[in-house]
Amino acid sequence: KLPPVDGDFYNMALKLTPEERELQMKMRNFMEEEVKPIANDFWNRAEFPHHIIPKFAKLGLAGIAYKGYGCPGQSFLMEGILAMELARVDVSISTFFGVHSGLAMGSIYLCGSEEQKQEWLPKMQKFEKIGAFGLTEPDVGSGVAGGMGTTCRREGDEWIINGQKKWIGNATFSDITVIWARDEETDRVKGFIVRKENPGFLAEKMEDKMALRTVQNALITLTNCRVPESDRLQKADSFKDTAKVLQMTRAGVAWQAVGCARGAYEAALTYTKKREQFGRPIASFQLIQNHLVEMVSNLTAMQTMCFRLSEMQDAGQLKDEHASLAKVFCSMRTRDVVSRAREVMGGNGILLEHDVARFVADAEAIYSYEGTKEINSLIVGRAITGFSAFVS
Ligand code: FAD
Repeated sequence: KLPPVDGDFYNMALKLTPEERELQMKMRNFMEEEVKPIANDFWNRAEFPHHIIPKFAKLGLAGIAYKGYGCPGQSFLMEGILAMELARVDVSISTFFGVHSGLAMGSIYLCGSEEQKQEWLPKMQKFEKIGAFGLTEPDVGSGVAGGMGTTCRREGDEWIINGQKKWIGNATFSDITVIWARDEETDRVKGFIVRKENPGFLAEKMEDKMALRTVQNALITLTNCRVPESDRLQKADSFKDTAKVLQMTRAGVAWQAVGCARGAYEAALTYTKKREQFGRPIASFQLIQNHLVEMVSNLTAMQTMCFRLSEMQDAGQLKDEHASLAKVFCSMRTRDVVSRAREVMGGNGILLEHDVARFVADAEAIYSYEGTKEINSLIVGRAITGFSAFVS
């Protein structure tokens, strides 16, 4: 009898309470039953499976770590575990969930007034309203903190926003998008809850992506877009506030990388045990085992790192550099894991039906979004050397 396939080699799940383990399995079963059977098809057609949104609502797991406002009030560790479970089956769906529950709800949770939190978070927790997060622009990505081109200016009780945002996940169908813009008067970055019906808001689907094809990314154009002062995030007054949101969600992206690697490793291990060449399962060959061991060692290092990262987050000890280090390390190692998973499957590794090709493509998006490898490395570099290598 062959040992079971399980990417949790050090049994980190033992560190979870029975209640946390139950939530993990709830998400895993949902992803296996509802998403896995449709994942390749929707990815291939670059369409989003809207029918799963009410099913997500029933799970009740959005905003898992937030306290109050109808949210479960669990831990950031639990949020990470869920990100891993989502990405283990489908990184696109994990990104949909992460943008809504992490970036959009997180912006309101961290930067919204009491009234804004009361208004939006309970509805978003139930997926009655879907959120997006608009920071990156066509001409500025990594350097957005100092180079943001989107502007806002106050006119009476309203703000007028002008500019463009690129890559904005969920924004083709979201009810609200958190838009970050530079105040023309003070030069400070402010955040706005922009409703899809706001005049001057246009979101167009970006086509022809080679990764995360199921995620609907939008190019947003804001043309004299009018937003009431009551929809300005009342506790966001500079890019430092935006960065607080990113610190929180970057930890989630590191966990997402773990999930992507885990899905690919488990699919590859299963395959190599069944596939025979030269009259024997290919898993019995030394060179194949070497690939599998490289994969599981990377995966185990990533998982243990992310556990500690989340513990620090739950203890209120997380700093930017901690989240950045995990994001850099895990997204690099994931690239290595998925490419080995593809390699041990031979030609079948590039066919969607064998459940590894999608991970290979999607790992590229994880590698670049929420801060590229270089930018997150520079954040860590600045922390450990005391010198900032950022150029303005
Ligand atoms: P650039 O900033 O142009 O960088 C190009 C290259 O130059 C990179 O390798 C970068 O590391 C390097 N570089 C830049 N500056 C330096 C430096 N000082 N030193 C060394 N190297 C440097 N954004 C949102 O706001 N909302 C979203 O929902 C969202 N979703 C996304 C989904 C996907 C699939 C993707 C691909 C992106 C998404 N993004 C989103 C944008 C993402 O965060 C940016 O792509 C990312 O920040 C990098 O910006 P850029 O693509 O403009 O690259």
